[in-house]
Amino acid sequence: MSPWPSVLIVPEQPDGDTIRMPVLGVFDGDGFVSRIKAHEVTGNPSHQGELEITVRFGFIDAPELGQPGGHEAKVFLESLIGGRSVDLAILTKMDTGGSLDRHGRIVCIPYLAAQYPVAAFGTSPTRLHDAVTFGRPLTVYRNIELEMVANGWAWVLARYGPDQRYFDALADAQRHRRGIWRFENNIAPWEFKRRKYRASQISRADDAKTHCPRESCGGHLIRRDGKFGTFLGCSNFPSCRYSRADPLL
Ligand SMILES: [Zn+2]
Repeated sequence: MSPWPSVLIVPEQPDGDTIRMPVLGVFDGDGFVSRIKAHEVTGNPSHQGELEITVRFGFIDAPELGQPGGHEAKVFLESLIGGRSVDLAILTKMDTGGSLDRHGRIVCIPYLAAQYPVAAFGTSPTRLHDAVTFGRPLTVYRNIELEMVANGWAWVLARYGPDQRYFDALADAQRHRRGIWRFENNIAPWEFKRRKYRASQISRADDAKTHCPRESCGGHLIRRDGKFGTFLGCSNFPSCRYSRADPLL
């Protein structure tokens, strides 16, 4: 049985062309690894074989694996599309003008074509009976990005200008405390990444031991707390009084 008894489904017909690609592995809550024919990437028909390629969702950002809910977001996405094929509406990236972003990834809205018995759409018991007997299964496209948001497992990337429905789905998930919204004080993944990057830069600067530029000093620069924030000062202080502004500020 599914650990998510009431998954919200978001039907939506893709707007324009899609390409069907297999989901080889889900690595977090907003992306997966797929496979593509080499010539489709290089544009050279003589390029044989297939390449692994990273597929990223364009308008959402799931919590990082190190954040509360990050692992669950990944498992939830796996439960939706793991081992299946999805239909990708490719988003052209402003930074490259092509369908791959500057990291060589496909950026898209992922759709899942799912078949439902007509009975699933019936309204009254009588009509339901007729539908089960005479109906044909319906193929419905599901917007997987919107499902991640509506079920509370992803944030919306406002800067790429998603449809208003993304914000409505986010507000709805927050109001009903689905997914990560049952936690207090969620940190947006982009803020989490920014803080992590900053912390790694600070520790790298400490490790690098930049030498003091004063001739024959032999000291190295270390980050110190000053009246106006941190600055870089010489380890031989007070015999060497070299200092300069902290490049991280
Ligand atoms: Zn010095």
